[in-house]
Amino acid sequence: MTKGEQIYEGKAKKVFATDDPELLIVSYKDDATAFNGLKRGSVAGKGVINNKMSNALMRMLETKGVPTHFVRELGDRDTLVRRVQIVPLEVIVRNIAAGSFSKRYGVEEGTVFPEPTIEISYKNDALGDPLLNEYHALAMGLASPDEVETIKRLSFRINEELKAFWSSCGVTLVDFKLEFGRLSDGTIVLADEISPDTCRLWDSETGKKLDKDRFRRDLGGVEEAYKEIMARMEERMGARE
Ligand code: C5P
Repeated sequence: MTKGEQIYEGKAKKVFATDDPELLIVSYKDDATAFNGLKRGSVAGKGVINNKMSNALMRMLETKGVPTHFVRELGDRDTLVRRVQIVPLEVIVRNIAAGSFSKRYGVEEGTVFPEPTIEISYKNDALGDPLLNEYHALAMGLASPDEVETIKRLSFRINEELKAFWSSCGVTLVDFKLEFGRLSDGTIVLADEISPDTCRLWDSETGKKLDKDRFRRDLGGVEEAYKEIMARMEERMGARE
């Protein structure tokens, strides 16, 4: 599969056309941004880790019946995915209060919710990805009522699978962000990535942050944390084979 024209460059990934109109190549960069692009930096090796982790988790989710855009890993940073039309919603699932939730609602970081909770933002950088509710999404025609239901159902399912997986690695899944896309026949599939850039992952024993918060909050040891979480995942996956 050859890389064609670059059709998009985001903050952490580039997307290329291929000779098949239904397939794209995603290429992961080491660039890191936070706070809607206000903070910029680079984390050596992050692109390779995010690519491999996201692919392994999507493969795992596929075996559990969750449809994803993943097709095949092509290299350290490159992955073949199905072309989708991204639904412009960022879905955040939370098991434990942290980040913007703690700030917005004054709930102490680390407070465990009795049930997982979900929130939706309008994926729009110019507006700073504002929070919205389902009625807003329908009013703006961002998704149909059926699509919103499917996205919520899949998001909670994905949470259960990821929570169990990370727990078996000695890691607590605090929260994460998902994006979904429509295949050409309208089927909703999981798109984008699942990585330490998009998840909060805490060591279950020590509470040590093993994710992008180390970059966002200048905690140091960013590269080491990405390497550690990857090693935990690989050790676990190796043990399963
Ligand atoms: O900042 P906030 O608490 O809203 O983030 C919730 C979760 O969503 C975190 O795991 C964060 O990494 C992820 N997120 C993301 N991309 C964004 C906003 C949040 O991956 N634009």
